[in-house]
Amino acid sequence: MIQNDVNLQPFNTLAVPAKARFYAAVTDREQLPLLLAFARENNLPLLPLGGGSNVVLANDFPGLVLHMQLQGKTLVREDRSHYWLQVAAGENWHELVQYCLDARYWGLENLSLIPGSVGAAPIQNIGAYGVELKDVFAELEAVDVRTGECRVFDHGACRFGYRDSFFKREGRDRYLILSVTLRLARQPHVKVTYPALREALATVPVDQLTPRLVSDAVCRVRRSKLPDPAEVPNVGSFFKNPLVALDQFLSLQVQHPGMVSFPADARSVKLAAGWLIERAGWKGVRRGPVAVHHQQALVLTNAGHASGQEVLALAKEIHRSVADEYGVELEIEPRVYGQGEEIQ
Ligand code: FAD
Ligand code: NAP
Repeated sequence: MIQNDVNLQPFNTLAVPAKARFYAAVTDREQLPLLLAFARENNLPLLPLGGGSNVVLANDFPGLVLHMQLQGKTLVREDRSHYWLQVAAGENWHELVQYCLDARYWGLENLSLIPGSVGAAPIQNIGAYGVELKDVFAELEAVDVRTGECRVFDHGACRFGYRDSFFKREGRDRYLILSVTLRLARQPHVKVTYPALREALATVPVDQLTPRLVSDAVCRVRRSKLPDPAEVPNVGSFFKNPLVALDQFLSLQVQHPGMVSFPADARSVKLAAGWLIERAGWKGVRRGPVAVHHQQALVLTNAGHASGQEVLALAKEIHRSVADEYGVELEIEPRVYGQGEEIQ
């Protein structure tokens, strides 16, 4: 069940080479007591891995990689307005979105075509086109890797934030998510507030919009803008959109008229990291095999033989340049394992 020195290059969408000292594919919950005991007894760090679309492997991993492949979907409850669907961590996110559209369980359509697994979705509260996981989340089951005990986290316990949750902060490295239960609507409520989505659906009269049309439009827009990791290895947005205090924003706006921004809450404003990076001159810049994507400056790509260190070296240059130009510290969105974690 446990393999040694496994190459993780096929298991991360940035396609960087890195070896796991120990590796196990988790296809059954029953495997976990033994695997967790093995890690504890040998004092090994753990790396739960889903689709590998939000990790940067800067070095070989000296511990045990648990490749989460648990499968299954169960309708656990329904009432007059909602369905509660429990989904195992290893299910593919986009396939789940398609399954729900077919079953007429509404709410996931704006989150179409996000790569990765269901178990990773709560980690950064995945979001796109104005919808976040938290909008449909009911609860999740997770194992405490220190004690082996299973615990249920309700919405409040997950402390979801913008691309953020308890599992990125206090709960980091402590829990292995086994399943996620989603609360999905019986009646569709389409949300097309994002300009790119509205434009893509401009010819459809508002009263004829359906979740399926929204999902198809999201897929079309994403395919036209974003490199497919299967063809051009990448991890999506490399940096989070920064939230800055209102007074900092007001002075930035004076210095840089036209700066793209969105209201976040009463005291802060969300800046578009892609805009900052592009305006700092990075779009299309290449350093050996690593490049800033020519259409979307938030995405760093690997031409095929880059190391995680090379990707992080370019990210550090961008980070420094944006800090010098705008006084804004960008935060890396994917989880960095190994050297380089310090600029996250
Ligand atoms: P992995 O990369 O395998 O893991 C990510 C982190 O979660 C790691 O720290 C890992 O240890 C942890 N983890 C994974 N599974 C578990 C588990 N079962 N239990 C505990 N910890 C776990 N993100 C968005 O939010 N919105 C987008 O629109 C979006 N678009 C993207 C587009 C592209 C082209 C790419 C490549 C990425 C995009 N992402 C987006 C980022 C990424 O797809 C999501 O963060 C996704 O949820 C990661 O899933 P994964 O299974 O690949 O996670
Ligand atoms: P876009 O539509 O060109 O918009 C650029 C940025 O502006 C986005 O980051 C988005 O913030 C923000 N934005 C646009 N309209 C907004 C509005 N009405 N209200 C608040 N914020 C608004 O973005 P894109 O790059 O093509 O991506 C489209 C969507 O997919 C975005 O939601 C993006 O987050 C998501 N996406 C995420 C990743 C990832 O890896 N995390 C990768 C690709 C795409 P938000 O990012 O906060 O939505």
